[in-house]
Amino acid sequence: MSTDLPATPPSFTDVLRAARLIAPYLPQTPMWSYPVLDAHLGAETFVKHENAQPTGAFKVRGGLNLLAGFTAGREKAGVLTYSTGNHAQSIAYAARIFGVPCTVVMPENPNPAKVAMVEALGAAVEIKGATLVETAEYVNAIADDRGDRLVSPADEPDLIAGVATLYLEMFTRQPDLDAVFVPVGSGTGAAAACLVARAVAPRCRVIGVQSAQAPAAHDSWRSGEPVRRPIETVADGLATGSAFALPQGMMRGLDDFLLVDDEDIRAAQRLLLTKAHTLAELAGAAALAGLIAVRGEFTGRKVAVVCTGANARPAELQRMLA
Ligand SMILES: *Cc1c(COP(=O)(O)O)cnc(C)c1O
Repeated sequence: MSTDLPATPPSFTDVLRAARLIAPYLPQTPMWSYPVLDAHLGAETFVKHENAQPTGAFKVRGGLNLLAGFTAGREKAGVLTYSTGNHAQSIAYAARIFGVPCTVVMPENPNPAKVAMVEALGAAVEIKGATLVETAEYVNAIADDRGDRLVSPADEPDLIAGVATLYLEMFTRQPDLDAVFVPVGSGTGAAAACLVARAVAPRCRVIGVQSAQAPAAHDSWRSGEPVRRPIETVADGLATGSAFALPQGMMRGLDDFLLVDDEDIRAAQRLLLTKAHTLAELAGAAALAGLIAVRGEFTGRKVAVVCTGANARPAELQRMLA
């Protein structure tokens, strides 16, 4: 989606560097298994709690890693990015720490909880475009005039290297996982999981999970070329309608890529609340929904699911409890 030349994938060394860069700002997140959840699933299941991040989502790792490098070398005035919300919070959070002006453009009908958090972090918010695809076109058109550094939500090696620190923590705690399930929107998380698993846990299966109601990344992965798909999912963290070149290339390392229905994601969200006392947004429950879909294959095995975020819409919470 970026108009620049295709970016080079980060290396494992970049991940180690990122871990050192972000350590002063973010403690490691917990990873727990829950006996009641294990009994329900038939597998020893570790939940990696990115819902415990200060922004309520894993993406802050990438924003901090990218902005740490920005102040070191760039001359541009500020950063400009687009997002349905959690990437926006990541960049806004890091921009505040490093003293960089930040503008975020969001598609129409944004998650009000996410808008409030981005504004509270001091970033300017603009609403433009019916979907993230249109928002991206708008941002690409205005970036040069603004003189800001345009930050793609996914075609950025520093974001992926930062996000990959999550998997470094995961495999350090549990080196012999049989599988890890990762929710996919643009694919930075899954790309990062592939990078780290291949380096430190080559036996571990890495399985991407996307909503069947917004399958652009999945369908692009299956067909081997970028395709656009409608966005009908209610999981706003997964609401991407097109493929991003950099994570798509790195996701070649996935062992499998599953589609789950939004209804199954809702069930997984409820399960995290009732059996793992964890409040997840829908996107944050998608990995568990993927595990549930194929749990027969993992009976008695040791698996991890990433609870990627906690920033649920108020209406989503009401529906979950109804
Ligand atoms: C962004 C996001 C995802 C998807 O991650 P990608 O790196 O875009 O594939 C999943 N869950 C949450 C909570 C997110 O914010």
